[in-house]
Amino acid sequence: ELILAIETSCDETAAAVIKNGREIVSNVVSSQIESHKRFGGVVPEVASRHHVEQMTLVLEEALAQAGLEPSDLTAVAVTEGPGLVGALLIGVNAAKAFAFAHGLPLVPVHHIAGHIYANRLLTEMEFPLLTLIVSGGHTELVYMKEHGSYEVIGETRDDAAGEAYDKVARTLNMPYPGGPHIDRLAQEGEPVIDLPRSWLEPGSYDFSFSGLKSAVINTVHNATQRGETIKPEDLAASFQASVVEVLVEKTFRAAQEYGVKQVLLAGGVAANKGLRAGLEARFAGSQYELIIPPLSLCTDNAAMIGAAASIEYKKGKRADLALNGVPGLDLEAQ
Ligand code: ATP
Ligand code: MG
Ligand code: FE
Repeated sequence: ELILAIETSCDETAAAVIKNGREIVSNVVSSQIESHKRFGGVVPEVASRHHVEQMTLVLEEALAQAGLEPSDLTAVAVTEGPGLVGALLIGVNAAKAFAFAHGLPLVPVHHIAGHIYANRLLTEMEFPLLTLIVSGGHTELVYMKEHGSYEVIGETRDDAAGEAYDKVARTLNMPYPGGPHIDRLAQEGEPVIDLPRSWLEPGSYDFSFSGLKSAVINTVHNATQRGETIKPEDLAASFQASVVEVLVEKTFRAAQEYGVKQVLLAGGVAANKGLRAGLEARFAGSQYELIIPPLSLCTDNAAMIGAAASIEYKKGKRADLALNGVPGLDLEAQ
């Protein structure tokens, strides 16, 4: 089974070929970060234009690197949603055209299912399992009792973790995306500034980061007004400590309550050194196997879409040429 997968939900134009759902044959990602930097965030219209420019090149490159002809393929998979509608449509239309031209079945994939299945490119998944997804647009805890079955047991009520990082970074005058800068700065500071932890109601696996973000901004403003100086590295370390403590603790409690075998990490914020170290420390010596993929598989890519598509393909999931991009696609309905 060879699946050609396409991903264009946000600011990465990506195509990959995946063999038997587990093996990366080729994996091509064209990032647009440089173009969005001067705007301080992803501009949807700019993203769509980039996808249009890059899509064909990236697709051809994925096939060339794999050394394959379209006739060698089993199916074409594409991210159906969630994401930016204009961005999704470029990938969906490319996939439809390719599938139609070469008489291949078309498999629609949920972007978050892709992030989860990135882990299957490293190791076999063992159920039941729990995934912590932390990215620019999502912060979710997803429980799976078997392949292709998703239960969202917790999610953010306001900002995503990556979004909070980026907004705090902007307050500290750092370039976009700010997450990696704060992470680096945090390593040099001490978490000495008192910032809130948003646990929400007892037993809740939901998250909230907007209060923390406001607390950081207020801390900076108050200090400026009083003519005091705060060490940016201490502020970064304090912010990171708050984010990591809540993410790690809620993930651990959920693993206990749901009695899972594995705990997986997914999404761009998985690059965070504090989060990786915090999870590793909390899960060390526990009965739960913690799996943290390499960064290249945590940020948006098409290899993960191909891995998820393999499961959907076996389930018999197909789309016809009426397939559309769905910005708010529901994970649990997959
Ligand atoms: P989604 O996958 O939800 O559609 P996205 O594509 O924006 O959103 P990713 O590309 O997975 O998300 O991740 C990007 C986010 O990860 C940005 O918000 C960025 O700041 C954050 N990030 C990257 N590296 C780090 C880090 N070391 N520490 C904290 N955040 C980080
Ligand atoms: Mg991205
Ligand atoms: Fe993503």
